[in-house]
Amino acid sequence: MKRALQKRASTGKLRRLPETVLPGAVDFTSNDYLGLARCPELAQRIQDESRRVESLARVHSGPFIGATGSRLLSGTTWYHNEVENWLASFFRRESALVFNSGYDLNLGLLACLSRPGDAILFDELVHNSSVMGLRLGAWRHLHSDSASVSKSKKLHSMVFRHNDVDSLESRLEKSRALLGDQALLFVAVEAVYSMDGDLAPLSQICDAAARHGACVIVDEAHSTGVLGPGGRGLVCAEGLEDHPALLCSIHTFGKALGCHGAVLCGPQLLRDYCVNYCAPFIYSTAPSFHSLASMRLAAEYQEGPEGDRRRSRLHALVHVFRKAMDGALVKREGSGHRLLPSSTAIQALLVPGNERVMAVAAALQAVGLDVRPLRPPTVPAGKERLRVVLHFHNTEEELRILVQRLSDWLNESLMEGGSGGAGST
Ligand code: PMP
Repeated sequence: MKRALQKRASTGKLRRLPETVLPGAVDFTSNDYLGLARCPELAQRIQDESRRVESLARVHSGPFIGATGSRLLSGTTWYHNEVENWLASFFRRESALVFNSGYDLNLGLLACLSRPGDAILFDELVHNSSVMGLRLGAWRHLHSDSASVSKSKKLHSMVFRHNDVDSLESRLEKSRALLGDQALLFVAVEAVYSMDGDLAPLSQICDAAARHGACVIVDEAHSTGVLGPGGRGLVCAEGLEDHPALLCSIHTFGKALGCHGAVLCGPQLLRDYCVNYCAPFIYSTAPSFHSLASMRLAAEYQEGPEGDRRRSRLHALVHVFRKAMDGALVKREGSGHRLLPSSTAIQALLVPGNERVMAVAAALQAVGLDVRPLRPPTVPAGKERLRVVLHFHNTEEELRILVQRLSDWLNESLMEGGSGGAGST
């Protein structure tokens, strides 16, 4: 352990938990895109719902704080069923299955979904939770003693180039040729990519999958609450709920919805399968009553006019920020600093180099702007970036100051040909 930590420290890549979350700083980093994690009205509604649940549970002397067990034992209560039914109809899918976190859900789903002889194709930028799930699944295939499965059929997964439908299509052809007509092929993508902020070309991906008899899994972690009617995500925004290739979507509640937990929405068959094979679901204590109440009330709250108001303000701020940054960056072409294309709350400004990105983030933080750097291994070396996250609760004035500070830093950094120094401006 010591050696591993020393190795990180020697390359300037040691990570530490922040001691405080920059008190009083302007939030350009949290995933609280709609400001719901700090919304008193939503907090009140969750409290009221928790009280309602408690009084109903007390009548039967049932639990109303912790779920008391894993779902297949004591942890499936009337309220778990009620909330899952509600979420299924909210996301317009046949069934819903709640998980403690999006990480658990992706890890468990991608580890258990494919059987030996099947394969999962995945975008090269999918989240670590999916990558770890794929690795676990690959391990399962490798150690499968299924005599009927030849070595070549132990192929488990294949990566395709980010958002590249041709690359996906060629992988689909390859795996179909290798595995045969009976193989199940899955395609794992995200609606909005967490490090770049760009959208998946979802309807083209679904069409390509349909042409090869594959089915698509969409992680809507960063689109839930932000995109689509009532914040239902990209699948609904693009009207793909009934696309023949769409298998399921994953919605998380810890980002725009301001609370915690995740739900898998899809066909009943998939739900039944996960209840039987998805280890993080089976072997973990079920979500608490308060978690469930938060998920339900947050989804309900942001579906309405207040959610629409927050979404449209957020999208307006994205526009303001990009326009201002375009102006700031236009004079600095060739510097390697580049704002990646994104119409979402996640705006990534490439600042290549570990020290440089650390320096600019520290300089911004020193003047009360909480912007965080992303560095390897979270992003590839050379693609270090500032991940500027915009929120409903940011003001245009805050955006103006941020762009000004960034612009000053970029100027100084170019003049010095080095690390810049926004703190001095
Ligand atoms: N998927 C994506 C794309 C994510 O960005 C994250 C969280 N960073 C997760 C899944 C995990 O969700 P949770 O935070 O609920 O564990």
